[in-house]
Amino acid sequence: MAGRSSALSRRTFLVSAASVGAVVSLGVSRPLRAAGTIKPGPASALIVVDVQNCFVDGGTLPVKGGAQVVPVINKLAGSFENIVVTQDWHTPGHASFATTHSGKKPFETTQLAYGTQVLWPDHCVQGSDDAALHKDLKLPTAQLIIRKGFRKEVDSYSAFEEADRKTSTGLAGYLKGRNIDTVFVTGLATDFCVAWTALDARKLGFTTYVIEDATRGIDLNGSLAAAWKQMADAGVKRIQSSDIA
Ligand SMILES: [Zn+2]
Repeated sequence: MAGRSSALSRRTFLVSAASVGAVVSLGVSRPLRAAGTIKPGPASALIVVDVQNCFVDGGTLPVKGGAQVVPVINKLAGSFENIVVTQDWHTPGHASFATTHSGKKPFETTQLAYGTQVLWPDHCVQGSDDAALHKDLKLPTAQLIIRKGFRKEVDSYSAFEEADRKTSTGLAGYLKGRNIDTVFVTGLATDFCVAWTALDARKLGFTTYVIEDATRGIDLNGSLAAAWKQMADAGVKRIQSSDIA
């Protein structure tokens, strides 16, 4: 279900990795930086966005390669004192579901009270196995699970602010109340919930990193490249998991 350009860029990447005879490594486009130079301290939090059954193969809205982020995130967790997990957590008949709007198909858009909404297959319904965190995600030291998108009429890609751009999830207050000023965003999907979370984090004054190889994108009509550009413009730092000490 990923967009055509995703399949294309993936193929291009695989070809270029193969042509240099490398074992496939996601560090190909990494800027030059010595490995393991960023050491998260007590004022940093790892945010693990929506690593749920719905967003991996076998789920209702699978992101290509989504499950591959799980071992990367499990390993990263050892470097963080503070970990926050999010779950997309929709009501049945949620406004973001194509089935809720007659005549609409998944990945089309519609107008909701707060603006344009991409319509998705029914996914991550509250309490379903589909909405559960991935079974191999091992984050015993995570301190908070924040659920989002649980209001029937409002979607929420961001872990901080719902799609109406007014309703706070409370996460900023939680982090600031704990003197956390830096966030490292991981999870699914890069161009939607990860990007919106990172952009809001910047807007709210957090130093913000996205750990690229701990994310995977959907890439709907070029949304992945657009999201990276928007994040770069907003001062989000794009790093790889090997940059973390
Ligand atoms: Zn959703």
